[in-house]
Amino acid sequence: MINIKDNIDKIKAQIQQACQQSARLIPVTELPKPLLENSSPVSLLAVSKTKPATLIEQAYLAGQKDFGENYLQEAVEKITQLAHLPELTWHFIGPIQSNKTKLIASNFSWVHSVDREKIALRLNQHIQDDDCHDTPLNICLQVNISNEESKSGIDVSEVFTLAKVINNCDKLTLRGLMAVPEKNANSACYEKMQLLFEQLKKQYPSVDTLSLGMSNDLEQAVAHGSTMVRIGTAIFGSRTNKT
Ligand SMILES: *Cc1c(COP(=O)(O)O)cnc(C)c1O
Repeated sequence: MINIKDNIDKIKAQIQQACQQSARLIPVTELPKPLLENSSPVSLLAVSKTKPATLIEQAYLAGQKDFGENYLQEAVEKITQLAHLPELTWHFIGPIQSNKTKLIASNFSWVHSVDREKIALRLNQHIQDDDCHDTPLNICLQVNISNEESKSGIDVSEVFTLAKVINNCDKLTLRGLMAVPEKNANSACYEKMQLLFEQLKKQYPSVDTLSLGMSNDLEQAVAHGSTMVRIGTAIFGSRTNKT
């Protein structure tokens, strides 16, 4: 049987080690408190798509509070099942259809996969109309960093235009950037993301998140300034049908 707690501990150790190896020596005084406690500037998002609520609960009992989901219907079922657990934070990381924005706005605290103005404006509008959030919805722009035809994400050249739109939305907080580099992407791709993130951070004080790195490229992502890695397989095991 899969031991979720062991897997989470291993990933945390791997993140620590990656931080040390890449000499991300952030002065201790500048770290926010929760980060000081586990002494890593990189937070862990557990990607639970296709996995049952029982496994998510095991991760929760091991101290994990942030979970990422890609498929809305499936996610909403699990969010409902786990509503009794305090302090669970749900992140939507999958492709967004514009007719699904309402359900996303009402169920999630973060959306990492915003790549169109229309989606941003609709999310903002739903929160305004439904009053379903005490705090603004946290937004990362998804960047198509590998220039893949099939991938979601906005072109690099349009990042700052979309960032401005989001920053002007009352009910959205621009937190940063997200990317899914293609398999075996070279380091130039990660460097581009790092640079974009640094530029965006200078313009907008609310920007503090580079959502980059999955089970297979965690080290490379951390070396290039990732502040949040999204880990599925290494925590919950491989996925059979959907990916
Ligand atoms: C599935 C998925 C992940 C997790 O990938 P693993 O390789 O299982 O760690 C991270 N980010 C996104 C956007 C995903 O769709």
